[in-house]
Amino acid sequence: MREKGQPEDLLFSFLQEKRRQDINHNYILSSMCTVPHPVAVRAHVLFMETNLGDPGLFPGTSSLEALLVERIGSLFHLPGACGYATSGGTESNIQALRIAKCLSRLSRPNVIVPESAHFSFQKACDILGLEMRTAPLDSGYRMDAGEVPSLIDQNTCAIVGVAGTTEYGVVDPIGALSDIALDHDIFLHVDAAFGGMVLPFMEACPSFDFSLPGVSSIAVDPHKMGMSTIPAGVILVRDREFLSSLSVDTPYLSVKQEFTLSGTRPGGSVVGALAVLEYLGREGMADIVAGCMKNTWRLIDGMEAFGISRATTPDVNVATFEPARVPPPWRVSWTRKGHMRIVCMPHVHASIIETFLKDIGDSNA
Ligand SMILES: *Cc1c(COP(=O)(O)O)cnc(C)c1O
Repeated sequence: MREKGQPEDLLFSFLQEKRRQDINHNYILSSMCTVPHPVAVRAHVLFMETNLGDPGLFPGTSSLEALLVERIGSLFHLPGACGYATSGGTESNIQALRIAKCLSRLSRPNVIVPESAHFSFQKACDILGLEMRTAPLDSGYRMDAGEVPSLIDQNTCAIVGVAGTTEYGVVDPIGALSDIALDHDIFLHVDAAFGGMVLPFMEACPSFDFSLPGVSSIAVDPHKMGMSTIPAGVILVRDREFLSSLSVDTPYLSVKQEFTLSGTRPGGSVVGALAVLEYLGREGMADIVAGCMKNTWRLIDGMEAFGISRATTPDVNVATFEPARVPPPWRVSWTRKGHMRIVCMPHVHASIIETFLKDIGDSNA
């Protein structure tokens, strides 16, 4: 590193120059993250130096994490749900499979995930030494629950369903998976990293949460549709024992045991997540979700008017299309099957959709 430090103004003009190289959010149509809500930023700054990894030193912050878990548990129809704030969907999914593996006590455990599962399950299975079995999808890109029982054997420790898939924005048949999980007495994890902050605020939505008795755990990401700062994920479990199965002793901390994967954990983004929910309430969240869904349908209608068909009809604010030319500086993404994918996040305003449609019309005319 530098022998002598750099003057602050010089340093920050260098940093600002680099920041300008990042893509402006006005053109980011590919991301499940968004511009954080102003109250999340304000809360984040207030709690900047807090560490949830040593909760005895930060009892106030820690009680806010507990309140966040309680709020989301109630939203998911289990007010007494246990959980904690993770770094995001990846950590939540790893922890859920780790719980399932610990509880099962199997020596060669396997898990069943849909073909559409997020790539974090590949990481989780690698780290945990789990065999990953993939269930095929139906024509709407939802997990084909009818194919699941034939994949189950005496070494199956978990089934995973996705509520709001990353690529196509659809919800797997969690009700059917819940029945299968109960029948076979297998742990069922629902990956609602994206959909968990969308579905509860819609007028009608498919069931995906603890109201289904077979659901054991749920992952949800406040740093996506919850509009918190990054990193903010949450894992919720039906039974306190699930988390304590992961506990290790922590000799030199203010608490004696922990079940989290990370040690040091940020309080700022976690309080940010709570601040957004408290500030907006159900009504405010429902308004934002309704706006995102309205924009999603406007985008689908507009694209189809140009002859660019939807790949499927989504359950949440993710729109996918047959391939077409996308002019710069727009940033869309592409699914594994080659479809164009656009996530209508809160920063993707109606006017942005209109400008995008005009540009797509011009370059595909
Ligand atoms: C985003 C996402 C993840 C991963 O979350 P990270 O916060 O990026 O770790 C997992 N599952 C689903 C369904 C997601 O959409």
